[in-house]
Amino acid sequence: MDTSLHIYNTLKRRKEVFEPINPPFVGIYVCGPTVYSDVHLGNSRTFISFDIIYRYLLELGYKVRYVRNITDAGHLEGDRDEGDDKFAKKAKLEQLEPMEIVQKYTLGFHDVMNIFNTLSPSIEPTATGHISEQIEMIQEIISKGYAYENNGTVYFDVEKYSKDYQYGQLTNRKLEDLLEGTRELSGQDEKKGRLDFALWITAKPETLMKWPSPWGWGFPGWHIECSAMGKKYLGETFDIHGGGMDLQATHHTNEIAQSQACSNTAPVKYWMHTNMLTVNGVRMSKSAGNGFLPHELFTGNHPLLERGYSPMVVKFFMAQSHYRSTLDFSNEALQASEKGFQKLMKAGETLNKLNADSESTVNIEELKNNCYKAMNDDFNTPILIAHLFDAVRIINSAKDGKEKLTEQDLKGLKDVYKTFVFDVIGLKEDQAQGSKETELTGDLIDFILNLRLDAKKNKDFATSDKIRDELTNKGITIKDTKDGFEWEI
Ligand code: AMP
Ligand code: ZN
Repeated sequence: MDTSLHIYNTLKRRKEVFEPINPPFVGIYVCGPTVYSDVHLGNSRTFISFDIIYRYLLELGYKVRYVRNITDAGHLEGDRDEGDDKFAKKAKLEQLEPMEIVQKYTLGFHDVMNIFNTLSPSIEPTATGHISEQIEMIQEIISKGYAYENNGTVYFDVEKYSKDYQYGQLTNRKLEDLLEGTRELSGQDEKKGRLDFALWITAKPETLMKWPSPWGWGFPGWHIECSAMGKKYLGETFDIHGGGMDLQATHHTNEIAQSQACSNTAPVKYWMHTNMLTVNGVRMSKSAGNGFLPHELFTGNHPLLERGYSPMVVKFFMAQSHYRSTLDFSNEALQASEKGFQKLMKAGETLNKLNADSESTVNIEELKNNCYKAMNDDFNTPILIAHLFDAVRIINSAKDGKEKLTEQDLKGLKDVYKTFVFDVIGLKEDQAQGSKETELTGDLIDFILNLRLDAKKNKDFATSDKIRDELTNKGITIKDTKDGFEWEI
């Protein structure tokens, strides 16, 4: 059996044998969330996929430094350095300081990651904590001749860079095609070339988050933070860089250009991209407004949801598709995953109660090899899960006396569960009940709020207010609508 790990490298558009630059050390950088709003289930899919990748590298014995940043500044609404700063806009909307927004949504993100039982990264650096590193890198790019300043804003000179390097290689696009797809510059533009992008943006009088720099007060462009922090913590060239596929064309393309311009070397050996979670075929995104928040999924409190599903069921549902395939959300698919998850967990409990036989009718070593083989093939979790169901079948047959398992077989099966179900996919046993409990909670809240509606109809405002206040005290937000009510925990 080929025991080496094969990874699909987006840059080379092929699967290749994984060879770390400096074994046994492995450096991974994953673009983290932009913390101006809640993470939705699509974002969670990307972070859960990389959690499984991280966990499997650890399982293979690598010493992994996993860096996942927090984008807490420098993110304008458009990809083209236009529009409002997302943090400042949200701060105004919620009447908070931008850093209160950052804190609120960073904590929310960590909660979601904990609920999904993901491991914390080794380092979680923030953009605002690395302004000087970003300024230094921009200065270096200017000194190499690949960036220029205009009125306090610094732009990356894509055409100049393209004379020496290949811009757009990550998505296999030629400069001419890219130019064709971009709008002409108007006379008012400050940048020289249509594809040039901002490394540093000058502050306007109303800009809330700004820092002093050699080019005056301003703030960094989005792409430079990942180049600067990747270099600082993982070196000029590191092993794996990941993120969602939507980041390839602009963010990661520009990251390669910045790092290459600065250090004259390719920053990353293996680029990895996760595919999108979709709803009815449409990509889930903050801007499209079709993003369920994880807690809506757990409580079932969303118009597209028939009921709630436990976090481990949702995680299992995600692991049932390969990270490079799109995954379409549906109630039917989640209900099927729930059955599968419960079957897997139940067999785990049965396994602990089985007695050993003196002879064996199964081959657990082969089963275990198959699990490794699946994960070694570009982290193929759906195939892994198919093999885990071979284990389920063996356990249930042994319970019915149709298969015989020796002490060693039982130990082998327990190893398979520990390694793959708990350590690699990162599932937890105790959540199987979760969906029933959350469903019951949802039903009870609906019931109480219907009583409140009746009270209101009977002009019993004392009771109606009492119900509202009690629920509010318990952290349930109630919104009265023309059809009745909506609520949120
Ligand atoms: P953001 O907070 O928008 O910067 O996104 C954080 C991460 O989630 C990035 O790696 C995105 O590529 C990823 N992402 C965004 N939308 C989706 C989606 N629908 N499915 C999977 N990943 C997504
Ligand atoms: Zn990034």
